[in-house]
Amino acid sequence: MTGQHVLVVGAIGRLQMDELETRYTLHRLDQAGDPETLLSEVGDRIRVVLTSNGVGFPEDLLARLPNLELVSSQGVGTDGLCVDACRVRGVAVANTPDVLNDDVADMAMMLVLATVRRLVAGDRWVRDGRWEREGMMPLNRCIHGKVLGIAGLGRIGKAIARRAEAFGLEIAYFGRRQQPDVHYRWCDSLEGLARDSDILLLALPGGDATRGVVDEAVLNALGPDGYLINIGRGSVVDEACLVDFLEQGKLAGAGLDVFAHEPRVPEALKAMEQVVLQPHCASGTVETRDAMAQLVADNIVAHFEGRPLLSPV
Ligand code: NAP
Repeated sequence: MTGQHVLVVGAIGRLQMDELETRYTLHRLDQAGDPETLLSEVGDRIRVVLTSNGVGFPEDLLARLPNLELVSSQGVGTDGLCVDACRVRGVAVANTPDVLNDDVADMAMMLVLATVRRLVAGDRWVRDGRWEREGMMPLNRCIHGKVLGIAGLGRIGKAIARRAEAFGLEIAYFGRRQQPDVHYRWCDSLEGLARDSDILLLALPGGDATRGVVDEAVLNALGPDGYLINIGRGSVVDEACLVDFLEQGKLAGAGLDVFAHEPRVPEALKAMEQVVLQPHCASGTVETRDAMAQLVADNIVAHFEGRPLLSPV
């Protein structure tokens, strides 16, 4: 028995950290001046790792924790965690799905509207005095009646589709298989979905399977009147190619919450009027971050109490 020792690789909300602190022995790798010493001292006592997908959990850290039983991670994405290596070692992984669906879907719709209706450009038009000097800004495009192609019609994708229907958008989707319980039109390839879409919305997970799948062929299929919205992962898009397309007018615009090398965003994107940028904050509300942190903590408590995990990966 190694006791109830938890290694904090990435911290969660204050309330939940306090709760965990009262129940278990927390070892703060996230605050350690000398992580090596901490790991050699407590590595073999650690049964649970607390982290987030953004901070991650790499395989070389797993190797230092011989008695690890659970990785409880904040975020629904698992591309930052060594899930396969954990599986091989019999280490459970838990994430925080569902509790963030509404906020991420709201952000997706906000980016669709802001990009196509040019919210930021309009705001600047007013602030820069151009309304007074030049009159009305150029017309933008409408949303209703357009085809919204959702790549990745999962929990979040479906929450986006429900909202988009209310805006009069027609929904099509791409995933690896057609979903029998879904009435939206399925496209059997991403390129096909892009060709059929006015707005291509990415709600795909990151990782090797989706790396760079939005490439030149997909962007060409979307075409010069098409918009790209990405709330999934930056790694899904060939970012250099996207910049090139936007610069050359081979795409109408883009709304992006996620990027290839966060927090670095290409200067070219920052300079573009037809692009709306967000700092990977689709789930970043007080309420949702609290719900995510609570689920992380609840999974840890369930594990130590011998109950099934609430949200195993
Ligand atoms: P989910 O329920 O697992 O949905 C993922 C969807 O992607 C599924 O419908 C799946 O459909 C499809 N998919 C998975 N791998 C694929 C592949 N290789 N090719 C084509 N389609 C694939 O996940 P979720 O909860 O909706 O979350 C989706 C992603 O959103 C997360 O993984 C995360 O990266 C991102 N996210 C971003 C933020 C943010 O702040 N911007 C917040 C939360 C989540 P099939 O299985 O039918 O292929």
